[in-house]
Amino acid sequence: MNHTLESLRKELDRINFQLLNLIAQRGSIVKEIGEIKKKQSVNKFDPIRERKMLDQIIEHNKGPFSDDTVRHLFKQIFKASLELQQEEHHKTLLVSRKRRPLDTVVRIGDEEIGGNNDPIVIAGPCSVESEEQVRKVAQVLKQQGLIFLRGGAYKPRTSPYDFQGLGEQGLEILRKVADEFHLKVVSEIVNPANLNSSVEYVDVIQIGARNMQNFELLKAAGSVQIPVLLKRGLSATIEEFLFAAEYIVSRGNNQVILCERGIRTYEKWTRNTLDISAVPILKKESHLPVIVDISHSTGRRDILDAIAKAALAAGADGLMVETHPDPAVALSDANQQINLTTFRELMKEIDRYNRLNTVKS
Ligand code: PEP
Ligand code: MN
Repeated sequence: MNHTLESLRKELDRINFQLLNLIAQRGSIVKEIGEIKKKQSVNKFDPIRERKMLDQIIEHNKGPFSDDTVRHLFKQIFKASLELQQEEHHKTLLVSRKRRPLDTVVRIGDEEIGGNNDPIVIAGPCSVESEEQVRKVAQVLKQQGLIFLRGGAYKPRTSPYDFQGLGEQGLEILRKVADEFHLKVVSEIVNPANLNSSVEYVDVIQIGARNMQNFELLKAAGSVQIPVLLKRGLSATIEEFLFAAEYIVSRGNNQVILCERGIRTYEKWTRNTLDISAVPILKKESHLPVIVDISHSTGRRDILDAIAKAALAAGADGLMVETHPDPAVALSDANQQINLTTFRELMKEIDRYNRLNTVKS
């Protein structure tokens, strides 16, 4: 009896090696086919051919394994083979640090974001409402030595009855006022059709949380040569966020800034939950600059000092904050925008923090 078991096991070992050899032989052929397909620019995955192979195999199945089991086993082999054909660079994302160990520095004229540069602050109203409103904010930005003026012209609002933004007129206001004060404009674009014309007005295109997986918009943003500030989706994982950035970078625009702006959780005392861990994780996984939107992530004014410092301590390359000359009458996000006096105080706190921590790791 023991003798029989022993010899059957030997037989199994022999078959295992045969199977391994056969799978390896199959793999080599698959790779050769992959090379031919690459030269002919033919798609690697051919579902019709796969179905034919599976049908043929099932026709020859005499048991003892069921057709389903045989199908499952061969599908695994096919899947592993297809992975062999996939080029290495498809397995490692362009946005990954594995592909590019050095930090990407995003350049906006003479300004730089990321790398060893000091953290920047992007500030301005939630929505552009009038030239006077934007000018009042721009004046303060200038006094504070800030460069990046934000303001929404196309507003993706939860309710269709809420203020939807001034559209192109809003962009015109931003550009005009920014030029008066030598500032750079950051503004959200929601429609791929508006991308090309917006380049005239904005220095950084913002893609908002609600559009993080608007793939047509991402592809369009990848085809223009202007920096993109990509916000994390309301319920996007970090991986999904990076895939969204990959859409832009893989189309040829590597000037992408990632923005953590809080995610939806069950917590009600903040508008969103700031995922502070995302900052060091993104910095570790990707070479792109990372900033934190302290306004939309918290939705409240009373904790901005602490959150700004937390973001900087976590390694953020910058902050975004909403400020309005008179938040009480703001047409959007009235509850979270800070007035210009509070904004100055916040900047003082941030400066103090930065001075205490001049050496950035
Ligand atoms: C914004 O920054 O104006 C905005 C709408 O933010 P989010 O897309 O993060 O909600
Ligand atoms: Mn807002």
